[in-house]
Order: sequence, then structure tokens, then C-alpha cells
Amino acid sequence: MTLLDALLILAAGVLGAQLWRARRAQRALQDQLDDYAAQASELTDQLHQVEARAAALIDGPPHPLLVIDAGSAIQLANARAREVLGPNLIGQTVIEATRAHEIDAVVQTALSQRQIAEQTVTWHIRPYLVRAAPIGSGGAVVVLEDQTQLHRLERVRRDFVANVSHELRTPLASIRLLIETLLAGAKDDPEVSVRMLNQVIGEVDALTQLAQELLDLSMIEAGQMPMQLRAADVRDVIDEQLRHFQPQAQQKQIALNNAAPIGLRAEIDQKLIGRVLGNLIHNALKFTPADGQITIGAEAAAETITIAVKDTGVGIPPEELLRIFERFYKVDQARGKGGTGLGLAIARHVVEAHGGKIWAESKLGQGATFFFTVPKVK
Ligand code: ADP
Repeated sequence: MTLLDALLILAAGVLGAQLWRARRAQRALQDQLDDYAAQASELTDQLHQVEARAAALIDGPPHPLLVIDAGSAIQLANARAREVLGPNLIGQTVIEATRAHEIDAVVQTALSQRQIAEQTVTWHIRPYLVRAAPIGSGGAVVVLEDQTQLHRLERVRRDFVANVSHELRTPLASIRLLIETLLAGAKDDPEVSVRMLNQVIGEVDALTQLAQELLDLSMIEAGQMPMQLRAADVRDVIDEQLRHFQPQAQQKQIALNNAAPIGLRAEIDQKLIGRVLGNLIHNALKFTPADGQITIGAEAAAETITIAVKDTGVGIPPEELLRIFERFYKVDQARGKGGTGLGLAIARHVVEAHGGKIWAESKLGQGATFFFTVPKVK
């Protein structure tokens, strides 16, 4: 081997070692790059998840929601805001988007005082609770909460309480008056005292009925009225109720007729539908003068059976035909007849819980017919 050969071999060895080191360094670099790429894709996934959550968060509320900057320009708007205020909100100021100075005033207060501001304002003839809360960036989150439904429920609740207290006060006042009259001397006349004590019993019964109907109604409205659906013969269910009311009808000389065909079978909770029928017959007896007629019929369609309670009584004015199914609603002329005004509201709930509907037809002075449907056994 010449010296040159030896040098060449040495140089090749050195170069080979350098090449090997360079390759190793390149592989390490490649691995690091792969690592970075994996981390970057994981971060992008996380970012998408955060974006999706933020979108869900902002679109979740059923009310218009805006995120604004310190100059009140809209930076983010949820789907409801775009529905109510228009599609191109980004960049508009609150006053430009809403054209309501009252709303803008709430927003400006929150922005300048850096504290939550809220105010109920009327906007597009609806009550809105405007709430603006400052956020870190110097801007604010603004929510416009439509309170129409809340106001309506509040009115229903107030009417309900007023009606219940009226219905409680009337029998309580007459019980008190009867007892005072007895104490003042009427008790010494056996005939008068028996009559008055029977009146007391009547008033106590009315209070008990009110308590029972309120309980029924609250259980039904809370969805807690247990129902046991079974096949029942419609004619038998009607007969059972007619037997119950026969003595009362006889006393008033009103004829009760069962005109339902034989063999119709309905899928019902017999006790609850019995109460619906009982309530309709009770009303028919109450509003039908002596020598009248109450006829209960039934007719089958493909899926349902319609039961009709027809009387020859005073009738119901057409404008009241829907309202009588509301809680406590009584037609004016019925005042003084007693009753809570809850019977038909309960009947409607029971029928609807069976998947049916209930309605009334009448001409004033020519009697009334109440109809309701129940599911048919096929
Ligand atoms: P109430 O306890 O007053 O009978 P309901 O809810 O059963 O309560 O009935 C509501 C109102 O509907 C009654 O007060 C009466 O004004 C009217 N009504 C119900 N049934 C009849 C009927 N058959 N004929 C005339 N009016 C009726």
C-alpha cells in the first residue's frame, strides 16, 4: 500500500464518520419536525373544539346575545341576535343595530362604569330585559331577554291567586254569617237551625271540592296524574255516571238518556274519563231547567270515539265557547250557581292526556253540547 492509498483510506474513514453523524443529525431533526407537526395538529384540533364550544355557548341561549368592544361595535353575535337584529351585525354599533336609545343607554352605562347594568325596556312593543356585563377586553356582553312569556305567566299566576282567594272567601264568609245567626238566637228554633247547619255543610262541601280540584289540577299540570289505560265499554262508563246523577235529575225532572251504541270500546283510564263525563253531566244538570233532557251519545271513527253530552239548558254565548275551558272561567250568568270554574280545565287536561280533544257547541238559549274524543280499541 502506498502512502497515497493509506491517506485515501483514512480520508474515506473520516468522511464516512462525518456522513454518518450528519445522517444521524438529519434523522433527529426529522423526528423533531414530525413531533412538532403532531403537536400542531393536536393544537388545531383543540382550537376547533374550543371554537365549537364557544359557538355552542353563544348560540345556546334563546335570546339575542352580542359581544361588543369598548366602542360598542359588535364583534360577535349569536344566531338569535342575527334572527332578531339582521344578518350583518359585525362592526355595527349597538345603536345602529337596535335603533333603540334605551338599549344603548344600558350598554353605555356598563361600558363607562365597568359594572353590570340592566333595565327592562319596551322594544318592538315587547318587554325586554336588557343586561350588559363588562368583559376583560374593555368591551361587554349584551343580552336582550324577551320577557313576553314571563309577563303572561306572571299575569296568569296573579289571576289564579286572586280567583282562589275569591273562591275561598265566599263560602268562608257565608259559613261565618250562618254561625253568627245561629249564635244570635236561630239555634233555639230547631227547624231553622237544621236548615242553617245543612247550609254550612253545603259550603264546607264546596270548599272541599275546591281543594280537591286544585289538587287534581296541580297534579295534572305537573304531569303527575297516574293513568292506567285499559279497554272499557263506552256505554257502561256512561251508564255508571248516569246512575250516580239519577237522583239529582229526578229531583229536577230532567231525563237522562244513554244513546251510545252497544259494543264501542275505548282505551282509557276509566276513573279519569268517568270524572270528565261526571263533570259534563253535573254542568248539564246545573244549567238545564226543569223538564229538560240530557242525552249522551257516542260515535266511532277510524281511530277515535267521540262522546257527546247534549243538554236543553241555557246555552253558552259563542264568544265564551273557548274560554270556558280556562281555569276558573265562568260565564257571567253562571255566577251565583256555585262551582269553581275548574271542572272544564281539569276535563281538558284529562282528555288531552289521553291524546284527545274537547270542545263545546251551543246557541244561547238552545242548550249546549260538549264533545270529547278518546282513543278507540282496534
Ligand atoms: P263550574 O264549576 O263553574 O261548573 P266548569 O269549568 O265546569 O266550572 O264550567 C265553566 C263554566 O262554563 C260554567 O261556570 C258555565 O258558565 C259554563 N258551562 C259549563 N257547562 C255548561 C252547560 N252545559 N251549559 C251552560 N253553561 C255551561
